[in-house]
Amino acid sequence: MKHDVVIIGSGLAGLSAAMELVGNLDVAIVTKVYPSRSHSGAAQGGVAAAVANHEKDDTPDLHMYDTVKGSDFLADQDAVEYMVNAAPDTIIKMEKLGCVFSRDGEQKIAQRAFGGHSRKRSCYAADRTGHALLHVLFEQSMKHKKNLTLYNEYYLLSLIYKDGVAKGVVVMDSKTGKIDIIYAKAVMFGTGGYGRAYNITSNAFSCTGDGIVAAYRAGLPLEDMEFVQFHPTGLYQQGILVSEAARGDGGYLINGKGERFMEKYAPSVMELAPRDIVSRAEQTEINEGRGIDGKDYVYIDLRHLGKEKILERLPQIRQLGIDFVGVDCIDNPVPIQPTAHYSMGGIPTTLDCRVLADVDGTIVKGFYAGGECACVSVHGANRLGTNSLLEACVFGEKAGRTILEDIASLSHEDINEEDEKSVVKKRIDNIFASPGTESTNAIRNELKINMTNNCGVYREKSKLETALSTVKELQEKFKNSKIADKSKLFNTELQEALELQNMLEFSELIVKGALERTESRGGHSRTDYPKRDDDNWLKHTFVSKQPDGSIELKYKPVTITKHQPVERKY
Ligand SMILES: Cc1cc2nc3c(=O)[nH]c(=O)nc-3n(C[C@H](O)[C@H](O)[C@H](O)COP(=O)(O)OP(=O)(O)OC[C@H]3O[C@@H](n4cnc5c(N)ncnc54)[C@H](O)[C@@H]3O)c2cc1C
Repeated sequence: MKHDVVIIGSGLAGLSAAMELVGNLDVAIVTKVYPSRSHSGAAQGGVAAAVANHEKDDTPDLHMYDTVKGSDFLADQDAVEYMVNAAPDTIIKMEKLGCVFSRDGEQKIAQRAFGGHSRKRSCYAADRTGHALLHVLFEQSMKHKKNLTLYNEYYLLSLIYKDGVAKGVVVMDSKTGKIDIIYAKAVMFGTGGYGRAYNITSNAFSCTGDGIVAAYRAGLPLEDMEFVQFHPTGLYQQGILVSEAARGDGGYLINGKGERFMEKYAPSVMELAPRDIVSRAEQTEINEGRGIDGKDYVYIDLRHLGKEKILERLPQIRQLGIDFVGVDCIDNPVPIQPTAHYSMGGIPTTLDCRVLADVDGTIVKGFYAGGECACVSVHGANRLGTNSLLEACVFGEKAGRTILEDIASLSHEDINEEDEKSVVKKRIDNIFASPGTESTNAIRNELKINMTNNCGVYREKSKLETALSTVKELQEKFKNSKIADKSKLFNTELQEALELQNMLEFSELIVKGALERTESRGGHSRTDYPKRDDDNWLKHTFVSKQPDGSIELKYKPVTITKHQPVERKY
């Protein structure tokens, strides 16, 4: 199989890239789930842009400052500036493509408040914004069927990368189990995030970090893996998201004593502080015994918004509450707890989405990444709500444009097919042939509980050491695991085992980065180092795999253009 460009992932990032390319080049999209089931479709609350429909004094500059401050000053400011400037045009483009945004009284695109944003700048389609955007891009890309091949339910097994050049990918057709090589002049990853390594998570089952692990196994570095975002409002014990829009539209957070506890933690913005701050506040209330009935949850209370507003603006989360915790938010407060939500770390790229091979800025020829799997880094240590759909659209499109610029200088490279296939076949054969006794389900559960308990909202040295030794034990156990289904056709058990193997690999990197980083910044909060330490840690972490299998950590300076780091106060 041979194409000019192969894109892995059909979320907003992958489809945005494809839309730039399909008019000119032969493009393939590989996706392990049907395109409209990509996790982008689950996004609820909105997409940020300073279109200033609601608050006339909003500007991209304000959006930039809010984002940089929200990132705890770890974001690369040139990348943030590019994104916020591109945001208003992105909204208009998506609207022209057919996205039906909610409207305000003047029939302009409505905008709602979100945490850490100093203005109401989240454009939304009720609480189904990701669904609206994803379906529009999918429908529009279907117009170009002539130039676009969709490999639906194909699973990326590895990236073919040699001597500084990406040459293609090895994939498995999930329907038949057949392993194939796709040759491409340009390879783009839009493979999404890695939240499934946690026990309580808002992420879809597909968010298992496959793309980032493929890059890492090929010898490329990953950036800022220790920064995992916890969203403050996951449905209790389920993790399913109650969008921040619920607080943006006026919801309160209440502890077991009936107090609006955010007063203590962020008096000026209360529930609309950035997510890292609100999640820590909740966790502190719970840890200190002020959860509801002393238990490990608090309430989000929406009753005062009234039935009409809830049905108009938050219909999906109302239904999720009814279906998954048996609570209708029109009549009762909803039990919630922090939930692993977003991966700030990922494959390091330049502003143009070209993948970096090292901290010195060496570029990998023919390899691009955008969206949640990439780390460009617009979110630094903590992402603001609604900046991620924006990132996926803006940098997906940018990746497409960069590929168009580069394509003349790229060619189909020779690939040693047997070598490439044998590496992945060995991995699969080991899983099939293992006579082991360990259950992959038990290993997965242990991993998730370990990551939530020992590398979660609050971290400290001894817990992180436990997290690391547990991940290593589980990696060993995996070698002695077995799967019951040995067939080739639609073997979901095999695919889940491969995903688990990936989660075991990147979880070690999250913990390693977290252990080394002896400070607290954004989503990474160490009780033994509670202060941000700009003198020593105003830098990005790069982890890479050495030929002997060991992990090397290096650091790269943060790009600071307009805003010098100051203490974050809300
Ligand atoms: C519940 C929820 C609500 C959210 N709400 C918002 C919001 O309101 N606003 C906001 O800005 N952000 C929100 N986010 C975050 C945002 O949705 C994501 O960060 C963004 O959509 C990611 O887009 P993406 O294109 O990078 O990846 P995804 O949409 O996750 O797509 C990943 C793609 O990669 C493919 N893939 C992955 N691995 C493989 C493999 N091995 N082989 C083949 N294909 C593979 C998948 O099939 C999929 O097509 C939310 C996230 C969640 C989980």
